[in-house]
Amino acid sequence: MIAQADIGMLDGLERALINGRLHMVYQPKISLSDGRLRRVEALVRWDDPELGTIPPSRFVPLAEKHGLIDQMTQWGLRTTLRQWLSWVEQGIDTCLAFNISALSLDQLDFPDLVERMCTALDVPTDRLVLELTEGATQPLIKLMDTLTRFRIKGIGLAIDDFGVGYSTLMQLRQLPFTELKIDRFFVEDAPTSADSALIVKSIIELAHGLGLTVTAEGVETEDQLKLLRDLGCDVAQGYFVAQPLKPEDLIPWLDRFEERWHMIIGEQPQLPLRIPRRYMG
Ligand code: C2E
Ligand code: CA
Ligand code: CA
Repeated sequence: MIAQADIGMLDGLERALINGRLHMVYQPKISLSDGRLRRVEALVRWDDPELGTIPPSRFVPLAEKHGLIDQMTQWGLRTTLRQWLSWVEQGIDTCLAFNISALSLDQLDFPDLVERMCTALDVPTDRLVLELTEGATQPLIKLMDTLTRFRIKGIGLAIDDFGVGYSTLMQLRQLPFTELKIDRFFVEDAPTSADSALIVKSIIELAHGLGLTVTAEGVETEDQLKLLRDLGCDVAQGYFVAQPLKPEDLIPWLDRFEERWHMIIGEQPQLPLRIPRRYMG
């Protein structure tokens, strides 16, 4: 039976989708070797005039359970692809990371739909990485066909929350992932706990052995960032680098981060972090 509070929220979410009350924010992911912007992760937000601010951890599972997730995913992806075009016009040609519910992967034609959306908006598919989390009821290995279709189309695949979920490195060997995101649980303790640091180091080494790019999530301190860099982690994401940003705040953040990066790492700037590139699409 559906709880009364859930009914109110579900109605509110349907209204929010219809009335355009959801919006996306974007969190930068930077390269730990040189501080450059590698991607931005799109995260959905819902500020409701009646219900207040509702976190995605609350309403995404509700949308999944009650059949609104496809509508939400398509709206979010379209919004994010349009935003990419706007950044390209401003000289920033970065990759996009977008969270996909494992439920959407049940549909074999989903990769075609995503490709059509990219084509319609003139966004090259290699600028898109989909972030997936393995759930208890939905082993990713069962979705091999769908995952392979994405890769054939040039779309990247990241395994999210690695280390706390159900995925193992053994499984990853069989799946066509391009990136592994270490959960922030391990990142948090790494500078103070030898065990956590060892786990992070081992995940990085094994993931590299499988040819995956490794991202650390939830980087909140300078110590964490420096340790991850020393351990050979490729990409960092977290509040220490940047909070999730409104689209118009990305370029001002990038301009400030360039100076900050050189102060953190203690190197003299060689090249500007932001090299404007022309859109070749
Ligand atoms: P996630 O994919 O693991 O996203 C990372 C979450 O960590 C985001 O929370 C982000 O704001 C937060 N975060 C980033 N840096 C830090 C940090 O340094 N410290 C801490 N403590 N947290 C940090 P958010 O935006 O509340 O999203 C929560 C989850 O909701 C996401 O986890 C993702 O699973 C889901 N989600 C968010 N947006 C979407 C979406 O558009 N579609 C789908 N299907 N799921 C989404
Ligand atoms: Ca994610
Ligand atoms: Ca995560």
